Amino acid sequence: MKRILYAAVAVLVINGLASSAGAFGIFDAEADGLHGGSRWDFASIYFNGNERSLQGGLRYSLQGGSYQAFKNQFTWEVVPTNAQFKRTVRKAFEAWTTVDPATGFGTKLRFQSDLSTPVSRRVVSSVRLGAEIDLFAAMSASNWDIEDENLQGETAFSSRHIGNKKIRLTSGTTGYSGYAITGADITLNSNPEAIWTLGWFRLVLAHEIGHALGLADVDVVGPDGMFIDDNYEDERPAKLRNSFAAKINTTNPAASGHLHLYEVPNDEEGLEHPAVNILMESELDSELYMAYPYLSNDDYAGRQFLYPYVTPPQPWDLVSGKLSGAEATLSHVSGGNAGLLTDTRSIPEPASGALVLAGLLVLRRRTSRAG
Ligand SMILES: [Zn+2]
Repeated sequence: MKRILYAAVAVLVINGLASSAGAFGIFDAEADGLHGGSRWDFASIYFNGNERSLQGGLRYSLQGGSYQAFKNQFTWEVVPTNAQFKRTVRKAFEAWTTVDPATGFGTKLRFQSDLSTPVSRRVVSSVRLGAEIDLFAAMSASNWDIEDENLQGETAFSSRHIGNKKIRLTSGTTGYSGYAITGADITLNSNPEAIWTLGWFRLVLAHEIGHALGLADVDVVGPDGMFIDDNYEDERPAKLRNSFAAKINTTNPAASGHLHLYEVPNDEEGLEHPAVNILMESELDSELYMAYPYLSNDDYAGRQFLYPYVTPPQPWDLVSGKLSGAEATLSHVSGGNAGLLTDTRSIPEPASGALVLAGLLVLRRRTSRAG
């Protein structure tokens, strides 16, 4: 049995300023597509008492308050155990924490379950309540209605301009201009006609988590897709596959000289080329199903752009090369850098600016049977 996924995505500006042209894509970029953007702050920041930063890991909660209760909202081809479901959710988040194999870049992104915080769809003064990332099941959502059978999800996040102090990047840069994400809500289709497997659930959830981090769909922004890349040329889809995370300026991503906006057609000359499999495409190729952790070179570049990672001193400088680069990077990250995370601030009401955005994924599954 071969499954092919089709999808379409819309970006809604619910409130506030007109959204920018996008990129690989980011939300809220300025006209050049590189400046600005919405991302989680690396410095601890409070909005109305809600901590909303990368500090301590992005905290996520589940509708129903437990893995079992959340799992039971969905219809399963084979009902998973609670342990299997918990592992699936965790692995969807952890896909975004994996080391980029092409560059060896790790990440300071971490995720932490926070099930004691009830999920909430409320938005107060551009602050999305609940945990930092809330997971919902719904039979009716912005992009589907009852009896919908498609395996699909959608994500909404809110962000706020935070004034003069601006954002601290994961590279340590302070005063970076842009928007701080104040919360994200991920919703997955729970109609009984939508029959999930753990594999599809993990893949769709991983895509939606990409939105919750501030990445847009690469194939939906702009008339033919405006896309941050380093070298795209028409009729050269192979150029959508090279690694370019190392070309990103970690102290000032907007000043990455090698990056430009490209119009990439969403067809066989571009994103629909069979060899181009980007997690943040709204049309998820079935090849990705087995390709955990899913992230392509373009997805890693998007992560590096929003959350730049500075390569730590190589341990073989110190211990004569016993660790591989990847192991060294991982151990460095898990060792923590608490000393960098002491800049706490709170933002008074009312918001200096308000912008609410939603990235939506519609994911239609077609099943064809061969032989
Ligand atoms: Zn999407």
